[in-house]
This record gives sequence, structure tokens and C-alpha cells, in this order.
Amino acid sequence: MKVLVINCGSSSLKFQLIDSDSEKAVAKGLCERIGIDKSRIAYTPAGGEKEIKEIEMPTHSEAIKAVIEALTNNETGVISELSEVGAVGHRVVHGGEYFNKSVVIDEDVIAKIEECNDLAPLHNPANIIGIRACMEAMPGTVNVAVFDTAFHQTMPRESYLYAIPKRYYDEYKIRRYGFHGTSHSFVSKRTSEILGKDYEDVKTIVCHLGNGASICAVENGKSVDTSMGLTPLEGVVMGTRSGDVDPEIVKTIAKKDGVTVDEALNVLNKQSGVFGVSQVSSDFRDIDAAIAQGNDDAVAAMEVFVHSVVKYVGAYAAAMNGVDCIAFTAGVGENNPGVRARVCEKLGYLGITINQEANKVMGEEREISTPDSKVKVWVVPTNEELAIARETLELL
Ligand code: ADP
Repeated sequence: MKVLVINCGSSSLKFQLIDSDSEKAVAKGLCERIGIDKSRIAYTPAGGEKEIKEIEMPTHSEAIKAVIEALTNNETGVISELSEVGAVGHRVVHGGEYFNKSVVIDEDVIAKIEECNDLAPLHNPANIIGIRACMEAMPGTVNVAVFDTAFHQTMPRESYLYAIPKRYYDEYKIRRYGFHGTSHSFVSKRTSEILGKDYEDVKTIVCHLGNGASICAVENGKSVDTSMGLTPLEGVVMGTRSGDVDPEIVKTIAKKDGVTVDEALNVLNKQSGVFGVSQVSSDFRDIDAAIAQGNDDAVAAMEVFVHSVVKYVGAYAAAMNGVDCIAFTAGVGENNPGVRARVCEKLGYLGITINQEANKVMGEEREISTPDSKVKVWVVPTNEELAIARETLELL
């Protein structure tokens, strides 16, 4: 069977068609500028050339139609008819406290996702539009929602409650939710398999370091703490997000720059992090290049980033009273040996030693710690689309 995995943003739609037997993508692509002029679809069949077509896509409905057209196209399509798509798995960003696992979508589920719109105003409405567009284009096909927040619903109260007046949680559900749950779950499970340990019997810290970054403490198969909070702004330093700051900074920026709270938060979300400190780029490849040229602001950005990751790993090792394995994943975690080496060097007190030769690995599953390292350190590539496809199949 084939599962169509859909990840809708406000003006974009990423897709992959995954074959359940081989667990490989048979085609993938991206619709961009939905609702804007010059909208286009990029489509790549496995082993084939990427093709880009400009198609008018005023809404996500046209985008879904363009995806279906690409997948069933006589020349470059990978399926002969739409009925070969057995189910659709949707990435949904926020499931609030309603969802602690993936669910088959019906009207009640859509209503609950809608109730979480306030918690993810940029993402959840787009996710619902994508779901409705699929229901319309493929009536009778099962749609499954896989939530970024669900894996973290196992966090104990001490991890998810903010120390603010209780009524904010009671009335508005202001609490830590955490994100990247599909990735943290996928990577931590895979890590226990690699170690040959029972998932229920291992303490892992997953460092999902991409443009967005979060760290998760996984104990006995459950997320027990994670660095992102009510929104993805909290936690470690990221590409353009500040991560943890003193909340008073928002007021100070608003006052000094004469801007609104929303505009000040925009600074923390879009102009901060590694980009903000370096004034070079949010991309670590550019930071590495600037460091090589002696740019001190780029050096500072790297130091601030590494320091924040090291602090979270240390905090989670303490919170779990130990750690068996650290897994690096996502764009930077998988592909940047320099970042991994700098982080691990500062974790020597945990008994971690790195094999510098093995650490040169990029984008491949590999142990990078030495045989005598007390804590195992692995690079474990994430695959959120495959995780979504697996969850979807499980519910069929
Ligand atoms: P997102 O949060 O947008 O999914 P990614 O996981 O793609 O982000 O991570 C983006 C980061 O990963 C960039 O800073 C980039 O430097 C790094 N990265 C991605 N691919 C590579 C690669 N092949 N080589 C080196 N760095 C990479």
C-alpha cells in the first residue's frame, strides 16, 4: 500500500508518497506560494528528475489537485490511479491536551484541532485546510492526524507546568507542550534498537538540531521533558529563534524600538538565534564559512548555540538521574561534525569521549563515541515522513 504524507504550512504544502513495504518514498515534492502569485509545484519521482511547474494555486485545494495530477501523470507519475493511495497521513502541529497519539480524522477531531488554533495560529489553520482539501479530493480515503505535540503528553506535571498563577493553566491551558514529537519518538525508538536495549529500559537525550531545534529527555519510552514550550520559541538557541530569554526583553525591545509586543516577538522568532548573533546567516554552513574567515560574531553565535545545547543536555541528564545515550539528529545534528564535537567536548564530565574519525559522518546512522565512552553518542537521521506513514498504517 502507499501512504500520502502531507505537511501543510500557511502558503506551502510538502508531500511524500511512501510505499509501506519498502518504507521508501516513491515520490516527493513541494507546492509553494499557495494563495500568492507565481505558485508552483516541485515534484521528484524516486530515481527521476525534479520538475518544477507553475500552476495557479489560489488555495490548498488546487495544491492537492496538483499533487494528485503529478502522482498520476502518464509520463512522470508513480501510480496509475488514485485508489492506490491507501491513506493520507497529515502532520498537525498542535494537538493541545486532546491528543496523546495519532488519530483517524473525523469532524470531531477537526473541531478539536480547531480549538487548538490559538496555541498555533500559523500552523493549525493551515493543517486543517490541508485535511479538508484531501477529504474533498479523495472522498472515502482514510485521513490520519499525527501531532507534533502528542509524544510529549507523557511529560510529568513538574516538567509541563510553568510557575505562573494556576488559573492560566486552568483557564487557558498555558503550559509546556513541546514540539518535534514525531522526530523525538522516531529517533529515540531507533536509538534503543541500535543499542539492543528495550525501549522501556533506556535513558536517551535526543538533540534535534535543525533550523528549529529542540532537545528531549526520553526515559522508559516516554518523553519526560523537552526544551520547546507553549510555542516553539522556547528552549535552545535556533537558526532565527532566540530560545530562552528573560521575558522582560520583550517589553524592553517594544519600548526602545517603539514597536508592539507582536513585533518584538517577531524579532525573537525571526531575527534572533544564530542569525541574530552572527548577523551572517541562520544556516550553519555559512556560520562555519564565516568562522573560517575569522568573523568574531560568527564565532560568538557558535559559542552561544553550543553553550545552550550543552546546558540542556546537562539538565536532562540530571533530571533523569543519568543518561545512556545521546542522539544527534536533523540538519545540523546529522551533518555538522563541528557542532557535535564542540558539544561533546563539553560533556566530558559525563564520561563521554568521541571518535573524531567516526564523527566526520554526515547524514548517516553511526556511533561517534569511543568503545569506552560511558555514554553512547550516535548520529541517528530522523525521518518524520516515514514516522507519519507508519503511524497512519498502524491506525488502518
Ligand atoms: P528545518 O528545521 O527547517 O527542518 P533542517 O533540519 O533542514 O531545518 O536544518 C537546517 C540546518 O541544517 C542548516 O543550518 C544547515 O546548515 C544544516 N544542514 C542541512 N543539510 C546539510 C548538509 N548536507 N550539510 C551541512 N549542513 C546541513
